[in-house]
Amino acid sequence: MQIKEILQLKPENQTITAKGWVRTKRGQANIAFVNINDGSTIKNIQAVVDVNNIDEETLKKVTTGACIGVTGALTPSAGAGQDSEIVVESLIIYGVADETYPIQPKKHSLEFLREKAHLRFRTNTFGAVFRVRHALAFAVHKFYNEQGFFYLNTPIITASDAEGAGEMFRVSTFEANKAPKDENGNVDFTQDFFGRETSLTVSGQLEGELGAMALSKIYTFGPTFRAENSNTTRHLAEFWMIEPEMAFFELEDNMKLAEDFVKYVIGYALENCKDDLEFLQNRLLDEEKSKPQNERSELSLIDKLNFVINNDFEKLTYTEAVDILIKSKPAQKKQFQYEVSWGIDLQSEHERYLVEKHFKKPVILINYPKAIKAFYMKQNEDGKTVRAMDVLFPGIGEIIGGSQREDNYDKLMDRIHEVGIDPENLWWYLETRKFGSAPHSGFGLGFERLVQFVTGMGNIRDVIPFPRTPKNAEF
Ligand code: ATP
Ligand code: MN
Repeated sequence: MQIKEILQLKPENQTITAKGWVRTKRGQANIAFVNINDGSTIKNIQAVVDVNNIDEETLKKVTTGACIGVTGALTPSAGAGQDSEIVVESLIIYGVADETYPIQPKKHSLEFLREKAHLRFRTNTFGAVFRVRHALAFAVHKFYNEQGFFYLNTPIITASDAEGAGEMFRVSTFEANKAPKDENGNVDFTQDFFGRETSLTVSGQLEGELGAMALSKIYTFGPTFRAENSNTTRHLAEFWMIEPEMAFFELEDNMKLAEDFVKYVIGYALENCKDDLEFLQNRLLDEEKSKPQNERSELSLIDKLNFVINNDFEKLTYTEAVDILIKSKPAQKKQFQYEVSWGIDLQSEHERYLVEKHFKKPVILINYPKAIKAFYMKQNEDGKTVRAMDVLFPGIGEIIGGSQREDNYDKLMDRIHEVGIDPENLWWYLETRKFGSAPHSGFGLGFERLVQFVTGMGNIRDVIPFPRTPKNAEF
């Protein structure tokens, strides 16, 4: 039985076995209290060991980090914070952990734990984060299944650079120094595994659109790779993205789906991860104590999540947002690092001002200048803007990027020529606009940014089990 199940039982002296890793051992003259955790819940089970029952040699091996199994009677506990405990009759040691075990029962910094990524799951914080991550992933599938979407797996190895969404990692079986060259001295990829240059995908969207042009509503949920050298708290080189694509959806439908989706999965976590979210909330409160008053958040973690699911997202156009920004205090006082004018790609400082200072809630910006958005976005009648939408979240910035797609073959071709993409590489994508084209829309949500928002973790490296960032692929 998992400890989570054991803790739900009524203690009636029934015989129970619990297995897990020792968090702490406290001793008194004849009795030892051992807290065991198996990761099924943030809660530990207390094992009470009478030193007369268990031999000294065995008990000595029960140290923080050791893996043990205990069998005994489940009895009501007199201790605070727990209803039941196991009075141990027998105890096995599966694996010892000596005093060099790095995760001792004290506060470790997140930076320290990142260097112990192989063991950090055994802390309360990371246990909570990865249980919440699981719940969110499950909720993603549950939401789309209930909405009649099909889960479509798009390729991880690709020959197309989706949109220039980011720098790509090359996939090749050539040996680093022995790649064959053509007569011009360039690497001859026709001799490579796929007979052409291939990379790890930056997005499953283009293939996702092909699926939507037959199955109507699909979503992808898979790993995505960007070789961009951005050392921020919101960028990974390998992250997970959820990309729904829907036939017959216009931009307005797309916005509504994005809002419903995010609210649904956050609501699911609130309902199913209570203990973990309470722990993470207290962790955050603790962390905030060391911050100056004006940098502390106004809402606690759970209040913030409830606020998001109970309030409408603010919706406005890029042009309206630029107006607000130009008139804003920080712009007047020249406090923005990047000056605001119509046509710029909004920087994170601008997005954060809109979300955190001006509206104080999630914001959906639509109708961006076409020059700063990808070629496949549907052009508006004004000839200047496209039907793009970005969803911006407090503390996170962009969590979703999406659009209505250009479904008109000629307009799409014009745009492809304008931005200098070779249509040969996209012949299959273009054919969907030739054969039974339909209005359609979609978006991409960065899964780790969602997990960051829900858990309140400040650094994206702490919400994925094994982060991949520049100069870092140890584990
Ligand atoms: P940003 O401007 O923050 O780099 P982007 O415009 O490159 O994001 P898109 O290409 O629209 O992002 O990707 C869709 C979503 O994927 C983003 O809204 C974000 O949630 C997530 N995302 C993008 N790049 C990364 C990354 N390097 N690490 C983690 N998540 C990312
Ligand atoms: Mn990016």
